[in-house]
Amino acid sequence: METDFDIIIIGGGPAGMTAGIYAARAGMNVLLIEKFGVGGQVAQTSTIANYPGIANVDGSELSMKMYEQMTELGVKTVFASADKIDFDGEIKSVLASGVTYHAPAIILSMGATSRGLGVAGEKKFVGRGVSYCAVCDGAFFRNKTVVVVGGGNTALQDVIYLNNLASKIYLVHRRSGFRADDAVVNEFESLCKEDNSKIIQKLGFTVEEVCGENTVTSVVLRNIETQELERINVDGVFVAVGRNPNTELLEDKITLKDGYIVVDEDMQTNIPGVYASGDIKSKKLRQIATAISDGAIAGTNASKYVKILRKVGKA
Ligand code: NAP
Repeated sequence: METDFDIIIIGGGPAGMTAGIYAARAGMNVLLIEKFGVGGQVAQTSTIANYPGIANVDGSELSMKMYEQMTELGVKTVFASADKIDFDGEIKSVLASGVTYHAPAIILSMGATSRGLGVAGEKKFVGRGVSYCAVCDGAFFRNKTVVVVGGGNTALQDVIYLNNLASKIYLVHRRSGFRADDAVVNEFESLCKEDNSKIIQKLGFTVEEVCGENTVTSVVLRNIETQELERINVDGVFVAVGRNPNTELLEDKITLKDGYIVVDEDMQTNIPGVYASGDIKSKKLRQIATAISDGAIAGTNASKYVKILRKVGKA
């Protein structure tokens, strides 16, 4: 089965949905293909406190508002896995769950996926104590002991979130300095300083092994300086050590830098008519604000590209 659009957006996070909103408002017939549910990483974030104009908003609520706005503007969403992209020629195609969709312009907004620790026991206990999303799985660890691994925004926000649920939280980070924003570090540190704080910082440590029987019962830590090993008893392990861009579909056709898509200031990749936006593209600051900025630029310029092709009768 084949069907035609002006623009196909792959990925329904804030970047993809914003691209959809801008392209639809520019008069384009837009298809958005999303594998799971809309919102991407944002939908799994409990409180977003840095979205301009809304002091505090639940991530899934913000995602649904973006989705409703985009849908009301006429963007069609298909919940399917994009399996293959054909970038050749003026009309590109995307195969998703057995259906081929055609369009002159494509916007790649597939985001990035949580990175693993790559240590013994991690994979074995996924869903049985090992989690990559505190907001999704935190409730399973009410009044239990957990360890959060990482030193970025996600890790410290996970600790802040779990502080309302777990009875004890170890924060394991390989350095003494944090990568997270100052505001997040300050909130984390003030929780650590509270009387009877539940948080125990293990800085300069890595996780060596995740252990258990049916579920996680402990982790083995390595002190990076002394190389000494230490076992701590925990019920859950939240891995928050960054993310990898979802570029598997691109098959060396799209130029990457350090694994992320390179674009020009119009968000266009090395292939005319193919744009990228959000966490999948090379950039320094990965935030909702920067994702929607990318999406607005990509949606606008993809629309301009299609209009030019239309004028010369090629779309
Ligand atoms: P990140 O900023 O890349 O931080 C990853 C952390 O994990 C770093 O502290 C890193 O240590 C550590 N790490 C990496 N590999 C490791 C390994 N193999 N073993 C142990 N530790 C390891 O990732 P993120 O926290 O997921 O954030 C991703 C992006 O989303 C960032 O740009 C972040 O600002 C943004 N974000 C924003 C918000 C918000 O509310 N504004 C929320 C979440 C995420 P080193 O520091 O030593 O490299």
